Amino acid sequence: MEDSWILPPLISSHCLTNPSGFALELYCTGCFFHCKNCHNRELWTYDPAYLVSVSEFVDSVLSYFTNPLIVELQIMGGEPLFSDCRILFLTDALRLIKEKTEKPIILFTGYDLDDLDLDSDLFLFVDFLKTGKYIENLPEVRVNETFVLASSNQHIYKLHPFKKIV
Ligand code: SF4
Repeated sequence: MEDSWILPPLISSHCLTNPSGFALELYCTGCFFHCKNCHNRELWTYDPAYLVSVSEFVDSVLSYFTNPLIVELQIMGGEPLFSDCRILFLTDALRLIKEKTEKPIILFTGYDLDDLDLDSDLFLFVDFLKTGKYIENLPEVRVNETFVLASSNQHIYKLHPFKKIV
């Protein structure tokens, strides 16, 4: 299976689970939310020029994870839950990644929690979920020394066991 992602990933100091570590950020293409003044407008269009296979995606993540300073994976966009195909892609890819590493996976989505089926297989392999669209006239929310939510309607949930963090 293939889907459209911007690779290679970015390394970021905006880390949710360990403010002294670094996050691996992966960006998918395609988003239908079109939040006003979105910082990633170039990712709104699903771009087939960036197609990668599940194995390419997994190999890329695992190669970065050999660096002990990289402590978590953040899956961003765009909208990671853009389509059924994308959800299947992620389910396969994250299952394989979780077989090789215990590093946490954070999924960013513009959906609110009530819009999601947390019983779907994908969420077995997601440790933290960031929910909610970007609403520019709402204030930012600082979660830790390095990680900030862009607007106060957004939330962070730990999925296993389920707990609202912010
Ligand atoms: S959900 Fe994210 S990527 Fe999509 S328009 Fe909103 S801020 Fe931009």
